[in-house]
Amino acid sequence: MDFLNLPKIDLHCHLDGSLRPGSVLELLRKYNIDLGINETNIDDALKIRGHCDSLLTYLKKFDLPLKIMQDKEDLERLTYEVFEDAKNENIAYLELRFAPVLHINKGLSQEEVIGAVIKGMNRAKDDYDIEGNIIICCMKNLGEEEALKTIKAGYTYMNKGLVGVDLAGKEDIGFAHKYIRAMRLAKDMGYNITVHAGEAGPGQNILDAISLLGAQRIGHGTNLYQSDEAFRLVKKNNIFLEVCPTSNLQTKAVDRLEKHPAIYYYKEGIGICINTDNRTVSNTDLTAEFEAIGHLLSMDRPSYIKMYERAVEASFADRETKDKLIDKVRRIK
Ligand SMILES: [Zn+2]
Repeated sequence: MDFLNLPKIDLHCHLDGSLRPGSVLELLRKYNIDLGINETNIDDALKIRGHCDSLLTYLKKFDLPLKIMQDKEDLERLTYEVFEDAKNENIAYLELRFAPVLHINKGLSQEEVIGAVIKGMNRAKDDYDIEGNIIICCMKNLGEEEALKTIKAGYTYMNKGLVGVDLAGKEDIGFAHKYIRAMRLAKDMGYNITVHAGEAGPGQNILDAISLLGAQRIGHGTNLYQSDEAFRLVKKNNIFLEVCPTSNLQTKAVDRLEKHPAIYYYKEGIGICINTDNRTVSNTDLTAEFEAIGHLLSMDRPSYIKMYERAVEASFADRETKDKLIDKVRRIK
């Protein structure tokens, strides 16, 4: 299958993990940040290439990009570039996520950070045939008060480019219990909810994310098989799993793609879509992800189109955008 030329949907992509190495290098120089990074080692500094032992090692790759993502014009430009890269491999719709609180080190407010990212996205949407929305992440290591601040900061942009909230970062057992109040407020404010769960943590975390936090989608959800109750709930409530194959290999959520539990979930009729997670950190793009796992899902053209359509329905886009995206895939049938 020619995955490159098929229209694609990416619902799980982190901005800070998807920057162009050349742009990172340029901005390190602009701000005189001297870490000994140059043309020869920038790729190693940003990408997982070869061995990575855990999610924690993986998360360390975000330290460098965050150093140069502290100014409005840079955030706007970097967002624009991610959308441009996505469009270049025929991604029709990108839901891009980031944690505003990680971009306030030089004095920007979280609201300004969100505004700058949306501006970059809108500029790309004006220039190219690509649709998109933004999801803001709250960090699991920062606690509920910080999550509440982020959620309130995003309210100005609700349904004006911003469509959802996520909980990301290191996954402890039972983390969901600490974010019940924050996610209830988010729901009341009109946010859609997706939560990273069952990636490095147990299946129980997925159950908690759905039942305690109201998650409509689960980031990864790899360990769903560990909880019968979670499995039943995901199926019954049509909760969608955002699967990121290469990232799951790198963080050791799975040993081999052939054994990825998502293959089983897919065969059981659970809604899944394939995503990049981090285009740069994982050294991948969505075409490569489909090439890696497509044959393991016995994917042919009709089943690809079905997955695309389910991903569109599970996206947080409005009805008009969804219809436009469905139209796009029906045209190639
Ligand atoms: Zn993620």
